[in-house]
Amino acid sequence: MVRQPALPTHATCLLFVGPSRRPCFVVERCRVPFEELGNSEVLIRVRLAGLCHADARRFVHAPGGAADFTDALIPGHEAVGDVVASQRPGVDVGARVVFSAFNWCMECDCCRQGAHVACENATKYGGQPPWALGGTLSSHVLLRGGTAVCAVPPAVPDARALLAACPLAAAIAGVRRLLLLLPGRVEGGTAGQRGDDGGRPAPPPTALVQDCGGGLVGILACAVLAESGFMVFCEGGDVSRLRLAAKFRANPVFKDAGPLTPSATLPDRLDVVVMAFGVDGAGSPRTAGPHARLRAGGCLLLLGQPPPGGGSGTTLEAGAILAKGLSVIGNSEYEPDNLQDAVQFLEATGGKFPYDELLSPVYGMTDFQSALASALDGKFLRVVVRPS
Ligand SMILES: [Zn+2]
Ligand SMILES: [Zn+2]
Repeated sequence: MVRQPALPTHATCLLFVGPSRRPCFVVERCRVPFEELGNSEVLIRVRLAGLCHADARRFVHAPGGAADFTDALIPGHEAVGDVVASQRPGVDVGARVVFSAFNWCMECDCCRQGAHVACENATKYGGQPPWALGGTLSSHVLLRGGTAVCAVPPAVPDARALLAACPLAAAIAGVRRLLLLLPGRVEGGTAGQRGDDGGRPAPPPTALVQDCGGGLVGILACAVLAESGFMVFCEGGDVSRLRLAAKFRANPVFKDAGPLTPSATLPDRLDVVVMAFGVDGAGSPRTAGPHARLRAGGCLLLLGQPPPGGGSGTTLEAGAILAKGLSVIGNSEYEPDNLQDAVQFLEATGGKFPYDELLSPVYGMTDFQSALASALDGKFLRVVVRPS
């Protein structure tokens, strides 16, 4: 039997104490309240944590209001770290890993049927998980038995690996579902295949990502769609964000096109429209309704985390969906296997896409106030924190 190394006795944690308290967080050295790991559990030492906009928003608006806030918690659901103890076969001490933002129960009917997104007992890291060390703004995180864990290849640097477990896995899950609905249009991830008659290559399917300037998931969706064989367009959000999307193989459509902002021309009818939800207010169609853009039989993909209020302002017209036979997919989470897909995508496309332009400089825990300000003002699409 392999001897497990002794667990650390203390961890350094950022404790969020409530949105109405000043200060609303403290950094504390906390006693690790367990002496051994349970079946399939893994303890990691965090190298870097990502501060998602949803996490940052919590510091200013508690879900359900300040009155509902009862217990201090460790926020954060994105991290890359080293395994320091493991009771999971195949996850070895010393491995550099990322892990899913969710712990699934693996026992309910949904989990048994492989539909983990509908797990009745899923818990998100950084919320109020009913276990200690359950958030990533901490020197150590305890991964429960229903959490997907994936080794990070050497070619993927720490900060880039942070993209895998939240926005990239969700974007890949959404695009995978799209591909199931577009048989024959996209095969094997290559565009421009031979037409049915073996002659001219068929044109690639087209996708428009709306509001991709708003959040990270929209920009990453551009990259995933392009790598899956789509001709990708993007609109909405500010000019600099659209230019950033262009580096992820989208063709930006500018509202006020000019000599410095040459705009792509949208095809009359698109195969796919993606509405990317990222930050407050994003996801509201500020341009023509998504249905009008789609060809008959096209697909609308709603992707990402809706802002508080559930994405109000977004209306889907039942008549248009029926008349055109459209498919509508809502995708905010992902299946355990998509974490591995995301890591492989980062490894395979490291030289193609400028992932580092999505990331902030690394903030130390003692400078968390600056990290929070940076996340809230949206200057960087992902803020990076080193918790230890
Ligand atoms: Zn996230
Ligand atoms: Zn379940």
